[in-house]
Amino acid sequence: MIPIPEKLVQALKHAERVVVLTGAGISAESGVPTFRDAQTGLWASFNPEELATREAFEKNPRRVWEWYAYRRDLIKNVKPNAGHLALAEMERRFPRFTLITQNVDGLHRRAGSRSVIELHGNLARSKCFEEDLPVPSWEEGPEIPPRCPRCGGSLRPDVVWFGEMLPVRELEAAMEAAKNAQIFLSVGTSALVQPAASLPFVALERGASVVEINPEETPLSPHASFFLKGPAGLILPVLVGGL
Ligand code: NAD
Repeated sequence: MIPIPEKLVQALKHAERVVVLTGAGISAESGVPTFRDAQTGLWASFNPEELATREAFEKNPRRVWEWYAYRRDLIKNVKPNAGHLALAEMERRFPRFTLITQNVDGLHRRAGSRSVIELHGNLARSKCFEEDLPVPSWEEGPEIPPRCPRCGGSLRPDVVWFGEMLPVRELEAAMEAAKNAQIFLSVGTSALVQPAASLPFVALERGASVVEINPEETPLSPHASFFLKGPAGLILPVLVGGL
């Protein structure tokens, strides 16, 4: 059992505005590999950070599309874990609760979270590479990636690649929530990918208590008010159970 500091339990019990930022680590216990974990099988020789860019898509659109198809398939066969479920429960407990995720796997919604700010898009959606507009459906043909039914351009996953801008509305909402948080939890993120990595620091500057949950230290750890070292699937249920 991981001990939760009493001071944190009390602060959470009295908090009204709670914000949580999640990263790939929260889905690790569901069997979704983080980018830093070694990839297996077919994709072992590729660095995910080199596949998740516009340049990679322009160079080899088929390879990038197939990598995302593989990830989409992987996600279909996994389930939300105890960490996702605990966050869905937290949403019901606090008057103002904001869940911000860098994940593209949709597992928070599948766990029952109703309001989720998806900073990096969602694997389940596709958009046109040329027009940058959503494409909800298309006719499957022999071509990979499929063609946009409007303009004939290539389809791409509706996710934010390295080097791309985040969706403005989502980023603004996340910043606003971070500014107003009393307690800010950073869960399963390496705290390296900007601008998401700056959100806990925005909260800290505004006087929030920042709680980090991660089995490894990150650049945020020395600044966090509480660093709970361990897997999110173990710690979050204990945290919620103590409320
Ligand atoms: P990251 O891969 O950089 O870091 C993952 C972090 O999770 C690490 O700090 C690791 O120590 C921690 N971790 C591992 N297991 C954990 C556990 N059981 N509980 C808590 N923490 C755990 O991920 P990131 O910070 O989210 O940034 C990388 C980018 O990769 C993001 O943009 C994200 O969109 C993308 N990504 C998403 C998914 C997904 O949707 N599931 C998967 C891989 C990558």
